[in-house]
Amino acid sequence: MICLTGDTHHDRLDTNEQLWLREQGQTISEVDVSLEYVQLCAKYDVKCTLYVTGRTLADQWTQFEPIAKVEICEVAGHTFEAFPRPASERQKTMAGGGVATSHAGTHGSYEDQDEDVRRMCGIALERLGAPIVSWRNHGFVHDANTDEILYAHGIRYVSDDLNWDKLHPEQLDSGLISHPVNVIMDHDHLYHAHRTPAYVEKQRENWSFTSEPTSESFTIERWGELVMEQVTHIAAAGGVATVLAHPICMYTADRFATFERLLQQFAAYPGIHARDVGAVVGGNPGGTDGL
Ligand SMILES: [Zn+2]
Ligand SMILES: [Zn+2]
Repeated sequence: MICLTGDTHHDRLDTNEQLWLREQGQTISEVDVSLEYVQLCAKYDVKCTLYVTGRTLADQWTQFEPIAKVEICEVAGHTFEAFPRPASERQKTMAGGGVATSHAGTHGSYEDQDEDVRRMCGIALERLGAPIVSWRNHGFVHDANTDEILYAHGIRYVSDDLNWDKLHPEQLDSGLISHPVNVIMDHDHLYHAHRTPAYVEKQRENWSFTSEPTSESFTIERWGELVMEQVTHIAAAGGVATVLAHPICMYTADRFATFERLLQQFAAYPGIHARDVGAVVGGNPGGTDGL
């Protein structure tokens, strides 16, 4: 079973990738490429869950609305503001020879995080007409308060864990159900956009996701092969393969060519939205076909 996921950010976040696109003279926005992404999912009949920042729904609703209308796509929460870090601050880090990530590394105080989640859930209800129940934090940033706050605001499914050994969704003490990203994620393992070999070499010095077995980066073609190897293995074990493929990464890497090849292959497996993973916690003992 495959849970295909992507994250979409508002254009004013000025992520390194958005800045890179503009440097190339491209006027297409991250929301535009996200619409192409979900349309491709619809073309191949592959379910996807798109975690989107609240700021996107608030400020770019006209652009985003067609995405919300694509039935095969579940819209979920990705924090309201995504911990913006001023471009000027990042440029200073880069000038000093460091690697500047697009976002800050913390939610701030309990109250700050509570307010951000409240705003995300509020704008989602307003724009989508129904509450969101699934969540991934931008940059996987979470702390000791996160689960309690999410649960209190009605979130039930989270995908913040990066762990290749967890093949099944799991029930957490907080009441949330977690479905770890258990397939090699795209962004941090791909040479694309601003992630040149030199950039990657510097970033590896500070890699913090120790539970993920590799900090290597690959070409988009090789990454696609690795994804299918892991998906095949997880499906054979009767698990849920949670794949993270960001719209903007898939676009900047090779204009969706690899993503479309993956969709063709994903179509052979049952798909599942994040909001439905509660039905397969700990595996599905009744399943016989290993899919
Ligand atoms: Zn994000
Ligand atoms: Zn990327």
